[in-house]
Order: sequence, then C-alpha cells, then structure tokens
Amino acid sequence: MPQRLVELPPPLSQLTDDEVLLRDNVRAFAESEVRPLVREMDEAGTIPRALIDQLFGLGVMGIEIPDEHGGAGGRFFHAVLAVEELSRVDPSVGVLVDVQNTLVNNAILRWGADNLKRRYLPMLAASTVGAYALSEAGSGSDAFAMATRAARRGDAFVLSGRKLWITNAAEAGVFIVFANADPDAGYRGITAFAIDRDTPGFTVGRKEDKLGIRASSTCELLLDECRVDVSQVLGEVGQGYRVAIETLNEGRIGIGGQMIGLARGALEHAIAYVQQRQQFGHPIAEFQAVQFQLAQAATELESARLAVYNAARLREAGRPFLTEAAMCKLFSSQVAERVASLALELFGGYGYTRDYPVEKLYRDAKIGQIYEGTSNMQLQTIAKQILGARR
Ligand SMILES: Cc1cc2nc3c(=O)[nH]c(=O)nc-3n(C[C@H](O)[C@H](O)[C@H](O)COP(=O)(O)OP(=O)(O)OC[C@H]3O[C@@H](n4cnc5c(N)ncnc54)[C@H](O)[C@@H]3O)c2cc1C
Repeated sequence: MPQRLVELPPPLSQLTDDEVLLRDNVRAFAESEVRPLVREMDEAGTIPRALIDQLFGLGVMGIEIPDEHGGAGGRFFHAVLAVEELSRVDPSVGVLVDVQNTLVNNAILRWGADNLKRRYLPMLAASTVGAYALSEAGSGSDAFAMATRAARRGDAFVLSGRKLWITNAAEAGVFIVFANADPDAGYRGITAFAIDRDTPGFTVGRKEDKLGIRASSTCELLLDECRVDVSQVLGEVGQGYRVAIETLNEGRIGIGGQMIGLARGALEHAIAYVQQRQQFGHPIAEFQAVQFQLAQAATELESARLAVYNAARLREAGRPFLTEAAMCKLFSSQVAERVASLALELFGGYGYTRDYPVEKLYRDAKIGQIYEGTSNMQLQTIAKQILGARR
C-alpha cells in the first residue's frame, strides 16, 4: 500500500465525538421532554418555565459560556446542533435557545467588559433567559434608522423609545438593547446596552399573536427615561452597529439550524405517514410520484444542511463567513417552507388539521424568511459580496 502523503479533511457533515454526544443528548431530551408538550405550548402560546429550567439543566442555554462562568464550555457548532435538534421537534423551543446562545451570550462574550461577563454569564448559563432588542416599528430591515435614544447624563445613559418584535421578551431577565447615543453621527451613534428587566423605566409590553412559533414570545419593549449606568454599555459607545452586525451574522447560522431541524422534522413525519397511509390498495409510499417528491425534499434538505454546517464550521475556524451565513439562512428557510408544505400535502386532509404535527411546522417555517434579516436582505448581502469580489 502506498503511504498516504496528505491528510484528508473530514467530510463536512462528519461530527466529532463531542458533537455526536451533544446531538444525541439534545435529541433524546427533545423526544422525551419537548415532544409531549408541543401542541399544548402552541395552543397556550407559551413555553412553560419548568421546560425552560430543564433546558438550563441540560446545559443548552449557555453552550459557549466558559466553565469558569458556569457554562458548558462548548463551541458555536454545538449551539447550531442543539438548535437543529430542538427545532426538529419544536422550532419555538429552538429559537428560545438560539437567541440565548447566538445573540445574547455571544454579544456579552465578545463585547462585554469583565464586569458584564462576571455579572451576566453565570446568570445566563444557570437560570436567566436573555433577549436581543434591535428592531422597532419604523426600523426593521433598515435597523440602524432606529428612533430609540440614549442621552448621556453623568455616569448614566437615559434611554427612551420602543422596541418591537423581541423574541424571549416575556421570559427574559436581561436584554441587549440598541439605542442611538449620538443621532448626528448616524449609525456611528448606535450603542448596545445590557439592561436588567427590573430597571426603572423599562417595561415589557404587548405580546404578538402570531401565525407560527406561537410558543415563542414576541413582545414590544418600552423604554421611558430608563436610566442605565455607563458600565452597562457593551463594547464602546457608538460601536453598537458593530455589535449588531457581528452577532447577527452568526445568529443567521443559528436560524439556518432552526430551519434544517424544522425541515427534517417535517420530512420524518411525511416518511412515516406515507408508509402507513393506504390508497388504491397500496401504501402511498409505493407511488413513484410520492417517492420522487420525498427524494427531492431530502436532497434539498441535505444541501441546506451542508450550507448551514459549512457556515458554522467557517465561523468556528475563524474564516470569513458573511456570504455563507446569508446563503445558508436564505436557502434553509426556503427549503423549510417547501419541505413543510410537501409534508402537509402528503398528509392530505389530515395534514390540514391541528391533529397532525405538520400543520404547525408549516406555520412555523415562514418566520425563517423574515427574522434576522428578510430573504431580500440576505440576497442583498450575497449580491454585494459576489459583485464586489469580481471588481
Ligand atoms: C416572530 C418574530 C420575532 C422577531 N424577533 C426579533 C428579535 O428578537 N429582535 C429583534 O431585534 N427583531 C426581531 N424581529 C424583527 C425582525 O428582524 C424584522 O421583522 C425583520 O428584520 C423585518 O423588518 P420589518 O418587519 O420592519 O420589515 P420591513 O423592513 O418593513 O420589510 C418589509 C418588506 O420589504 C422588503 N424590503 C425592505 N427593504 C428592502 C430593500 N432595501 N430591498 C428589497 N426589499 C426590501 C423586506 O424584504 C420585506 O419583504 C422579529 C420578528 C418576528 C416576526
């Protein structure tokens, strides 16, 4: 045998031992603890605190938080895998964990000064849910046009404004809030703050009544002369736009994880159903038309999965991943919608009812094309990169 001179890189979807362990643990948890609650949570529009406590106990609320702060000391890829596995069963639980890890913990880990890390990371790893508040009624895609203001008063900033669409807000104890501290400087005035829920002048407002991911809370935040010490600033004053851009670039890969998990859940339901549903004297899985539809869906899902894993691995390797993150979020959310739609169709009339799980996954899928940058915004990012690179 000739000696191999070059070491082969591992296949993209090959998981390391620790990744397999985490995936299997989260999958087992999702099956035993989340699955029985899915319909009830969707109908009640809430995730029970007891389940959130179990998620903390499992270690998935502080995956990248180092041991010294009470976290799991894991990697970004672990977070994506956890979100994928939870979303396979319930994308609402998936996004709770996603926002906690890829946006909130990530922002504090990367931008927080030591005092903020010491104070917040142990809480976020052990028991406190976090939320991330950038969007407003008048600024979504154009997020940096925000109207929330932060006026400097001595050792504090006084924040006034409203945030809209804030995931996890009903449960959260700490919020990353973006406000403009120097509107004349435009986006260079945007500043990120860590704010405790019980800060005077800070209120969690109305909860949205949504099409999908209904158990995930989405609320308005009201900041009325909310006084926040300067030590609560994440990064530098005026650097909030960087905090937002960099965390959201990573967050998008987490949403990719949510979307491939959702699509896999829907596809598994469909594969099981077509093998037992009989029409024309045969299981409908025996009809080639049905087989081809499932084969197409499985192929698209595999492509989306590779795109998500590649973006996550690039990020972890410290390589540029902006384009790949946008591509994986764009594509995986399209695939999730198509696969959930096919699954619903293959369930026939039953699929259209709440008695079967695919109707919910179909409703849940749509959000992937909206939050953390709409599909048009992902296309804009990708277009800028590919056209810029050619020049
Ligand atoms: C369930 C849910 C949870 C959310 N969670 C959070 C959260 O935790 N934190 C947070 O900060 N935000 C959150 N959001 C807000 C979300 O990120 C925004 O809704 C999203 O960025 C779109 O903004 P918008 O709703 O204002 O839509 P708009 O920006 O008004 O967009 C409307 C349409 O116009 C298109 N469009 C806009 N500008 C352009 C352009 N230049 N070129 C082409 N098309 C364009 C968009 O693609 C879209 O189709 C959440 C939203 C929802 C629905």
